[in-house]
This record gives sequence, structure tokens and C-alpha cells, in this order.
Amino acid sequence: MIVEGIVLRCIRGIYTVHAGAQVLHCTLRGNLKKQFEFTTSTARAQRVTRVRRNVLQDVIAVGDRVRVLVGHHNTGVIQEVLPRRTSFTRAGFRGREHTVVCNIDQVAIVFACAEPNPDLWKLDRFLVAAEAEDLEPIIVANKCDLGDPKPFDEYRPIGYRIHVTSVVLGKGIHELKQLLDERITAFVGPSGVGKSSLLNAIQPGLDLRTADIGHVTHKGRHTTTAAQLIPLRSGGWVADTPGLRQFEFLDLSREEIADCFPEFRDLLGGCRFDDCRHMSEPGCAVKHAVEQGAVSQRRYESYVAMTADLP
Ligand code: GDP
Ligand code: ZN
Repeated sequence: MIVEGIVLRCIRGIYTVHAGAQVLHCTLRGNLKKQFEFTTSTARAQRVTRVRRNVLQDVIAVGDRVRVLVGHHNTGVIQEVLPRRTSFTRAGFRGREHTVVCNIDQVAIVFACAEPNPDLWKLDRFLVAAEAEDLEPIIVANKCDLGDPKPFDEYRPIGYRIHVTSVVLGKGIHELKQLLDERITAFVGPSGVGKSSLLNAIQPGLDLRTADIGHVTHKGRHTTTAAQLIPLRSGGWVADTPGLRQFEFLDLSREEIADCFPEFRDLLGGCRFDDCRHMSEPGCAVKHAVEQGAVSQRRYESYVAMTADLP
């Protein structure tokens, strides 16, 4: 019997696949592996091992949808990998390890209404990172029992979804669960905003390494721990990956950053100069929109801050 499933974990060539109600421990079909060995055979001798490992990780990653031939005792053989929609890649400790999770659907960017107060400049950076990875962001304004979620309202006209929660009051938890259903979600955000508490409220006992996001730990402490998906009993999966702790955009050009501000997008073609930096150029459509109040001054300043060191 062939079933379709999703890869939860890969450990030493064994792939844990979640298929409906079952969890299968799978190997790769022979010629899927051969395909990869063929790829590495052209590499220079001293690099073979490294290349091989990276390529192997790329053949199948956590989050891949696969077709599995089911065997006895919850085993199976992966026959086919279905096309990826998205892929999240980061270099780990000393650039050696790549944490790859693919097919993430959305990023829950958690901030608190108070304790700590929302740092909207930081939130903007998370949003740009999500946009750059083409992951749909959901802004979660937690701890609404301690503060007013009003500061987050400036994101509504841009089109971002704001989800207000309180773990203490149990507010918004059920709705958050519904947002996670059927989808792969990564939880990111500064430390102390309540990510672990939210996940634990969604599913008691859920203990993710994403809880370490933003904490100052010894460099490389968790980097050898591989990524995994945790299936939720209410439906959907939460991505648990040490790489997501560095959920920051890397190597984006000024142009790409501007494109990650959804409220700029329709304006970008309207600047007088094709290579407009939206700083002090005459005829800049973005600056004009800021002056007219169509684009928030604060968001514009956020763009300026993010591109300050770029040519
Ligand atoms: P994380 O670092 O983002 O994972 O944050 P934690 O889940 O560890 O939460 C940090 C602190 O905030 C803990 O003391 C939690 O009990 C508390 N906390 C989490 N959510 C809420 C909330 O909705 N309201 C209040 N008042 N406290 C919360
Ligand atoms: Zn411009």
C-alpha cells in the first residue's frame, strides 16, 4: 500500500513520516539514493564527504511531502518526494550544518503587549525576514491581560493578520489552534513574550527548542540537534528547529528589503529613478506616500534603519 505523508524527522538515514494516523519509520528507495550518489561523484575527492552530507540532506528534508510504500511494523520505503513549496535554509555552527525545513506555511511572530513592551522595530525585522522567505506571517499579540494590543493596530491596514492572545486568560488560544490546523507553522519572536507558554496552552507538554529563540546561549549549543516537526493533536504541525532562533534576514539588498514592505510594493514602480533608494531622490513615490500619510512614517524609518549600511 502506498500512502502520502510528511517527514517529521531525519536521523541517520531513517525518516520518520507522519501519514494520517500512523507514524512510519522509513528508508529511501534505492534509486533515490543512487541519484544522490551520482550527484556527488563529480565532486573533488577531499570534498566528497561534506558534499555528500549536504546533498543527502537536500534529497529529503523535514517537512517534505513523500509517498511511502508501507511495510510491516510501522516501517516503510520512501518512493517519491513531492515538489517543495518553500524551503528554509540556514548555516549552523561554523557554517557546517544546514538546518533545512521545507514547506513551512506560516510564521507566528509572537510579541507581548507588555512585559516586555512590544518593540515594533524588531517586529518589522521579523516581518521582513518572513516576507523574504515567502512565509505568511501571523502577528501574535500575547499577554493582552497585561497591556493593550493597540500598538499592533498599525499593521492592520498593511494587511497583516493580528491575533490577540492571553495564556493567563485563555483568550485567543482556541482561535490560534484553528489557524495552525493543516499547516506547518514556525513560532518566532523575542524571548519572554510567551512562545513556550502559548505552545503549551495549545498542547500541554509540547516542549520545543524554539523556546530558546533569542536567549543568549553558548554558541553552537543546540546547533547539532536536527530540525523536526511536531504534529499537533488538533491538526497541523509546529516546526521545531534551532535554526529558526536566528530568524533574521540575511544578505538582502536594499531593493529586496523595500520589496518586503508590502505597503511599498505598489509604489515602487512610481519613483522617477529606476534605482531610487527612497531616501532623498526627487520624485520618490515612497517618500511622497509617507508625506501624504498613506505609508506610516515609523515603518518608513524602519526601512531606512534596515538599509542604513547598504549601498
Ligand atoms: P518565551 O521565552 O517566549 O518562550 O516565553 P515564556 O513562555 O517562557 O513566557 C515568559 C513569561 O511570561 C513566563 O513567566 C510566562 O508565565 C509569562 N506569560 C506567558 N504568556 C503570558 C500571558 O498571556 N499573560 C501573562 N500575564 N504572562 C504570560
Ligand atoms: Zn523612491
